Amino acid sequence: MRTFDPNGLGTLVERVVAEARPLAREGSVASYIPALAAADPARVGLALVDADGRSHQAGDSRDRFTMQSVSKPIALALAMESAGEEAVFSRVGKEPTGDPFNSIIRLETSERRKPFNPLINAGAIVVSSLLPGSDAAEKGEAFRAFAGRLAGRATLDRDEEVFRSERETGARNRSIAWFLAELGLLACPVEDALDVYFRQCAALVDALDLARIGAVLALDGLEPGTGERLMAQRSARVVKALMFSCGLYDESGEFGVDAGLPAKSGVGGGLMAAAPGRCGIGAFGPALDRRGNSVAGLAMVRSLSAELGLYAL
Ligand code: GLU
Repeated sequence: MRTFDPNGLGTLVERVVAEARPLAREGSVASYIPALAAADPARVGLALVDADGRSHQAGDSRDRFTMQSVSKPIALALAMESAGEEAVFSRVGKEPTGDPFNSIIRLETSERRKPFNPLINAGAIVVSSLLPGSDAAEKGEAFRAFAGRLAGRATLDRDEEVFRSERETGARNRSIAWFLAELGLLACPVEDALDVYFRQCAALVDALDLARIGAVLALDGLEPGTGERLMAQRSARVVKALMFSCGLYDESGEFGVDAGLPAKSGVGGGLMAAAPGRCGIGAFGPALDRRGNSVAGLAMVRSLSAELGLYAL
């Protein structure tokens, strides 16, 4: 396994952030969830956590933002660990769509009658319904505790304003969830499934948290530094495979070819990547491209992959 020169890494991370800062001007912050529109588009942060648990950070790496869709692979891992792989994949497929993340159309037109994968909204809402707990509050807590543990914290805070803002305005997700209920795919009442989904999307992290979680995935479920097992190897591998093929909306193929890494983005500006056996990367930049990915985040992960030879395939 290749290791890093820790002395050079700090300088590299600083340089990559400096180069990405001007790119933030090319994107715009998400506004379809009203509370997200207040984000400062100029923020850019980056963190890397290696297999020994050493971290390197630069820029706005300790700014907090809501996870949004970065929560989806983590919820998937938790559902696999608690409900089991069969319970998850009997309800959700493993195939990319090429459609936008919040598309509803194939639920009706596709013969398979289940969401294409767990990283689009339809699949993620099914996964949220499978989280452990008897109601939305318990499922939401289970998510926060699990994600917090992966990030090396007791739990994660939640942005109540973003949570409420999305719950009040999320008509599209509500439509998707009712469609899923009609197909018999939800493991709990439809309003609970939505509530859990909005809660996990509003969980607060910073770039360092995402780098730590990415590192656990990179190490097939082991905590960097301590080697403690935090999730089954199988869960980590399934999650990474799906992140590679479906993690960046309909930009997943292009990013996979360019950077060669499993990654997941969110409209809060977060981007989490896992370089198998090597490191986790967390990037933050709320200015998004038209597909919903962080402009600076994509550029920074691409640069690190090229400079450090992280291409995984
Ligand atoms: N909560 C957001 C939604 O469902 C997440 C979107 C995203 O980050 O892709 O619309």
